[in-house]
Amino acid sequence: MSQKDNYSIMVHGGAGALDNVKDEKTAVRYIESIRQILEHGREVMKLGGSALQAVEACASLLEDDPVFNAGCGSVLNEQGKVEMDAGIMDGRDLSAGAIASVSNIANPVQLARLVMTESEHVMLISEGAKRFAEHCGMDLTQDEYFLTPDRVEQLKEAKRSHKMILDHDETDTGGEDQKYGTIGAIARDPSGNLASATSTGGIVNKRMGRVGDSPIVGSGVYADNETCAVSATGYGEDFMRTVISKTISDFIFMKGMNAEEATHAGIEYLSRKVKGRGGVIVIDNEGNCSSGFTTKKMIHGWIEKGGETKVRFK
Ligand code: ASP
Repeated sequence: MSQKDNYSIMVHGGAGALDNVKDEKTAVRYIESIRQILEHGREVMKLGGSALQAVEACASLLEDDPVFNAGCGSVLNEQGKVEMDAGIMDGRDLSAGAIASVSNIANPVQLARLVMTESEHVMLISEGAKRFAEHCGMDLTQDEYFLTPDRVEQLKEAKRSHKMILDHDETDTGGEDQKYGTIGAIARDPSGNLASATSTGGIVNKRMGRVGDSPIVGSGVYADNETCAVSATGYGEDFMRTVISKTISDFIFMKGMNAEEATHAGIEYLSRKVKGRGGVIVIDNEGNCSSGFTTKKMIHGWIEKGGETKVRFK
């Protein structure tokens, strides 16, 4: 393998029971989306793009696909509104950008990137984030773009069962409507730079103003060239309490673990400490790819060291 082909990319489309994806056609729909998005990431790398460019491009495409719980496919909060969170991090210098509880932004990951590069802050929320988007020349998108009939029905079901649910959760609200998931993308480019991006609509029927792990540096998103890139999906509260992405990075930094060992140690910590529900994707600084989850399944795929594209639906 030549040096320029030494890139790795991973993406995920959420973790959960995924019992709702029973038929072949629905499964293929997910698998094809993940595969195409990974191929797009490969193109970015082949054209000399950075890890940061690759994760922003892949995460944007995942946000544009309504089968995932991010961007146009975001789940609804208790008031029937979309409030999205997203974060992006550059492992070269630990620069990071995030937005939380934001509506009317088609690609929250792109706004997070602008927070990182065009402001002196790490996180902007709600109205302030929206004003910053306008200041940067980003178009606001109408509510209708986000309010799909599937999402309205999913919220009704959650309210009927008085629950907050993970998009892919195992519930009696199942059915074909629950076929979506939070998204994340991580990459290592041939120069050895790592980056991570995570974007979500959060949890169905969440309280207004609730912020999850996805935009929080060290919880749902993390990248450090010295260690690894991580993106998480699942119950955000569990990941925030265990600072799971930074914990995995610390296993590499302090214990000299590789991606697989650190993922295993991180998932063990998540389960033992808080019975955490969800999963992570991890690429270490040598480009090794790894994933782990405590839920029944996690939709994810990867290209390891320029190799073939692999997608896993379990
Ligand atoms: N982690 C997200 C959150 O808690 C949800 C998910 O990954 O499905 O907001």
